[in-house]
Order: sequence, then C-alpha cells, then structure tokens
Amino acid sequence: MQNSLVIHPQDETVAIEPAALDAWLIAQDLAREGRPGPRFAELIDVEGVSVDVVQRLLRQHEGASLAEALHATAIRGAELQPRPMVIVSCEMESPCCRPCGSEYLGELTDLLDAWWNDPSFQAHCPCGAHDRVPALDWKHLSGFARTSFAIESPLAFVGMTPTAKLLDALRAWADTPWTWTWTAL
Ligand SMILES: [Zn+2]
Repeated sequence: MQNSLVIHPQDETVAIEPAALDAWLIAQDLAREGRPGPRFAELIDVEGVSVDVVQRLLRQHEGASLAEALHATAIRGAELQPRPMVIVSCEMESPCCRPCGSEYLGELTDLLDAWWNDPSFQAHCPCGAHDRVPALDWKHLSGFARTSFAIESPLAFVGMTPTAKLLDALRAWADTPWTWTWTAL
C-alpha cells in the first residue's frame, strides 16, 4: 500500500464502470498509461506549489525530492466494489457531527460495524443531530465508496488535493458530486 489520494463520489452507492472512468481520466489528460498526464498539474494541487513548477518538475528526470516524488506517482482506477467499502488509513480519526462539529465519542469499530450491518444506520450526536455514517465529517481521512481512482505518490498523503476544476469536471461528467480521502502507509 502506498500513500494515496483516493477520489470518489460523495454518494458511496454510486457505481461507475472502471473502464469508463479510466477512459475519462485519459480523455481529460489527467492520466496517461497510469502516470500523470499533461493536465495533471492543472487538476491536482500539489502542496500549494504552482502549476508551472509542477509541470516543469514532471518534465525533469532528476533533481529535487518533489520531482522524485512526482515521478513515483501512479494513477490507478479501482475495481468496482459490489457494495460500498470503507477507504481506511492508518491516520483514521473519529468523525465529527457536521451540524455542531463535535467528535463522535464511541468506538470507531462499533460505528463501522453498525454501518456494515445496516447501511442506513444513523449515528446520533449529543447535540440532537443524526446522520448516516458515510455522511459524517471524516475529515478526508476515511471515506466510503464503490467507485474510486487513486493517485499513489509519496506526496499523496495530505500533500495532494483535487482542484475545484477537477471536482467540477467529475461532477458534470458523472452527474454526482465527488470528494476525496487521503490514505497513508
Ligand atoms: Zn452534533
């Protein structure tokens, strides 16, 4: 397992054929043969570094650690899962209630088990709000999806974020909003 930026629909039940998603990533010039394509720097924010610098580093084959990390970057579509799965990370944290922002106090494994056994299970917050488990604020450190693609890179954990341009394009194409989850080694 690599550090990854996993990009997936917000609605964890959305199912897209991997071949269609792969073709879209290539058509957008985000990916080419599993590597960053010509528009990678335009569509993925890398540590707030400017598009020009990322493009230049991608063209170089030696040099700074950022260039090395970019050259170790791979883009892979995931298999379509038969049901929503948890995208987990060793940095997983308790989710927060979206209305009040307070952290879920129970055991994470119990919460995830409850969701696994009943996807409509509602988590209740002392503030009175309740929501389905995938709808809680997981702070991009865990996610839920059937469909996803991953940008695997030493920089991917927190260092890489999809740009609004990419999220807008994905939404327009798939007719559903997208989000992301960072996963770390
Ligand atoms: Zn709350």
